Amino acid sequence: MTDFAADSILVMVDVMPSGEVAKSAAGLLGAASGVGTPVAVVVTTPDLLSGAAEQAASLGAHVVLTATGDTSVLSAPAVDALVAAAGLVRPDAVLVSNSIEGRDIAGRFAARTRSGLAADAIGVSRDDEGIVAHHSVYGGAYNVDSAVTFGAPVITVRQGAIDSRAEAQPLNALPLEVAPAGAPAATVESFDQVQATSTRPELRGAAKVVAGGRGLGSKEKFELVDQLADALGAAVGASRAAVDAGYVPHSYQVGQTGVSVSPQLYIALGISGAIQHRAGMQTAKTIVAINKDGDAPIFEIADFGVVGDVFTVVPQLIAALEAKKK
Ligand SMILES: Cc1cc2nc3c(=O)[nH]c(=O)nc-3n(C[C@H](O)[C@H](O)[C@H](O)COP(=O)(O)OP(=O)(O)OC[C@H]3O[C@@H](n4cnc5c(N)ncnc54)[C@H](O)[C@@H]3O)c2cc1C
Repeated sequence: MTDFAADSILVMVDVMPSGEVAKSAAGLLGAASGVGTPVAVVVTTPDLLSGAAEQAASLGAHVVLTATGDTSVLSAPAVDALVAAAGLVRPDAVLVSNSIEGRDIAGRFAARTRSGLAADAIGVSRDDEGIVAHHSVYGGAYNVDSAVTFGAPVITVRQGAIDSRAEAQPLNALPLEVAPAGAPAATVESFDQVQATSTRPELRGAAKVVAGGRGLGSKEKFELVDQLADALGAAVGASRAAVDAGYVPHSYQVGQTGVSVSPQLYIALGISGAIQHRAGMQTAKTIVAINKDGDAPIFEIADFGVVGDVFTVVPQLIAALEAKKK
């Protein structure tokens, strides 16, 4: 029987249908290695299991606990595996991605194990009493810490928020014995594969985001945002006003009622910087704003700002970027 380190941190590693581990895994394992010994839990179909376990080890998992699960059943197989893993490892904390499925898994796991849940952390640390989660709340206006008073906290971690990476480890995989709880769960009966027409990175977890607001003026003119994003290899985001005006679909919305992002670089074009927008992007490492109103609130949080018309400034920026590539 494997002895687990006394400071083990359990990390739920999401596996994509392609067999790749989700991008969030690197940040989760990096966060875990900063406060303890990362132990990964990987649940997928038998054909993808060993490849996913190897990737988890290369991202820093000292032990990879593996379980096969029916991928047509949403969340429940992962929760069952996590319950089995927690019983075995007795971790100091459980880290899960703050993705849609991750939040479902974390909530179910916390309810089932009567654990405390801290959602949407942007960092973790350890003090004398255990693991502490750090959050950016109220539109990034406040940083707050949360900790539980009993047991191991279950913490969902915002994608892209953690920069640190764990050292690669040799693969040490252990199959888990999982007893399915038979909890009610949604089942996918059929699905249509949507052909991805974009080569841009996905907004959640993207390292660079270019976002456009009402200042772009129309759906046609919003193309300027796409062009700058393509020149930078960035994902495209938008303010709610741009979404409401029909420039882009709701899936692009960044903010309180949209996606939360923590990229290395966030460029806001024609976005005023309302608190609800800032809620979803204020933790970006570098914020660049281009707005023709020098008093726009976005400049209060921008690291670099250009007061000017996006239709004058951005084409010059794209030309400069293209010239640099030559
Ligand atoms: C409950 C609730 C939830 C919300 N959730 C969200 C959310 O998730 N995300 C979100 O974004 N908003 C959200 N909002 C809406 C939010 O309050 C703002 O209305 C919205 O963010 C404004 O979007 P905007 O900055 O694009 O538009 P505006 O506030 O209209 O700003 C447009 C900006 O473009 C500039 N501009 C105009 N033309 C140009 C030009 N040619 N060149 C350069 N600059 C130009 C203007 O100076 C202005 O600053 C929410 C609101 C509520 C009440």
